[in-house]
Amino acid sequence: MAQQRPTVVVGGGISGLSLALLLHRAEVPVTVLEADSTPGGTARTLERDGFLLETGPNSLLDRDGAVAALATSLGLQLRPAAASASRRSLVLGGRLRELPTAPSAMFTSDVLPWGAKLRLLLEPFSRRGPPDVDESLGSFARRHIGRTLTATMVDALQTGIWAGDMERLSAASAFPRLVALERGYRSLVLGAIRSRRGVGAGMGRVQLSSLDGGLGALSKAAAAALGTRVRLNAPALALERRGDGWSVVTPSGTVEAPRVVLSLPPTEAAGLLRPFDAGLAEALAAIPTVPVAVVHLGYRPALEPEPVGFGFLVPPRERRDILGALYVSSAFPFRAPGGGTLLTVLLGGAHRPELLARDDEGLVQAARAELSALLGVSRAPTLTQVIRWPRAIPQYNVGHAQRVASILAQASRWPGLWLGGNAYRGAGVADCVRSAGELGRQMLAAAGP
Ligand SMILES: Cc1cc2nc3c(=O)[nH]c(=O)nc-3n(C[C@H](O)[C@H](O)[C@H](O)COP(=O)(O)OP(=O)(O)OC[C@H]3O[C@@H](n4cnc5c(N)ncnc54)[C@H](O)[C@@H]3O)c2cc1C
Repeated sequence: MAQQRPTVVVGGGISGLSLALLLHRAEVPVTVLEADSTPGGTARTLERDGFLLETGPNSLLDRDGAVAALATSLGLQLRPAAASASRRSLVLGGRLRELPTAPSAMFTSDVLPWGAKLRLLLEPFSRRGPPDVDESLGSFARRHIGRTLTATMVDALQTGIWAGDMERLSAASAFPRLVALERGYRSLVLGAIRSRRGVGAGMGRVQLSSLDGGLGALSKAAAAALGTRVRLNAPALALERRGDGWSVVTPSGTVEAPRVVLSLPPTEAAGLLRPFDAGLAEALAAIPTVPVAVVHLGYRPALEPEPVGFGFLVPPRERRDILGALYVSSAFPFRAPGGGTLLTVLLGGAHRPELLARDDEGLVQAARAELSALLGVSRAPTLTQVIRWPRAIPQYNVGHAQRVASILAQASRWPGLWLGGNAYRGAGVADCVRSAGELGRQMLAAAGP
């Protein structure tokens, strides 16, 4: 694959950077074009008043070790959350309720009503879903655990990952492990027990992690390892087919490339592809995204008492102004070095996109009002920082798998065109790193020896 003209990766988020690094390490000449002045996309870390603020993702679950391998190769190490991060709460009936840490303790705790506990006992008798139907998460979950648990626990869980609408999200695409348990074992409870005894036996539980310096350290180190191969403030303005390769138009000139990878949010990729493949652009634009605002609130000296645990999530049926809050300095004390309390509040999502129309002051006020009502925190923060993502998270809604298959089939008709990023095979940071690795290996194999 020794080529003079570089493979161009458009988009220097964690997906594009980890792909570019893999290609570079395989001695493929590569250039990353990144529109912003900083690499990392939504996964960056800011240092403000001594606090480490994540612009988007707060922690990751590195199930298959792809992030640990990338981090180690860059001289970084994953940093697991404090043990107290296993403590999580939900808003139920307008109040914060801490969940039992062991699932079996759910039956003795008073967090759930009796009806919901009895329904949970029936889960081992659940039916499998209809074959060949891409079921919504809401419908899938109700079949297994009933209405109450679905509207509370499951909707809160998806809110923490997708900020989505569980009646639209595809169970198979958004929660593939749950659907695999059903396919394999019919019951999720029996499946979880049996799969733990089988393949997963003896394996340690995957821990929620960050990195020294925050999650942004990963993209920062990947970009540093790529050096001048990453071009910042270099948005791809247009893409053109040129001979047997591609030209990418940037404000400072045109880059010729034998291969182009669009590692972009789906709407951005659609914009570049529309002039020469309207069908492909339409299919990409059909992957919706939801907006999310991140509000960081720092307190020095620390709050008394300090909130302890990972944080809390709000099921949409509670109709509050926030999606949830993370007790950052409790779960990751190194992100508030020298003491102090750091809380991160998330707003927006599929159910409340209109909240992002508020100005920064309005978002801070909404976050503070909810923390006051739910946590009793009324003190004014010493630091506030608002970050907005109008197209934060792609939604893997019903039909997603088919949509992606069709997108990839259409893209494969264009030699040298590849699609990467979080819109296709998982949106978590760890999914992005894993799928960038898969894409890189596929590209190397396609290029031959
Ligand atoms: C608020 C929020 C919270 C999240 N929380 C978590 C979490 O706790 N844990 C977790 O695992 N995941 C979380 N995620 C998801 C995860 O952060 C993202 O899915 C992941 O970082 C996406 O990486 P990416 O490289 O695919 O895309 P992006 O980060 O979106 O990168 C795309 C890049 O392309 C650039 N770009 C766009 N257009 C152009 C153009 N025309 N030319 C050149 N460059 C362009 C952008 O500037 C950007 O840098 C969260 C996401 C958000 C937004």
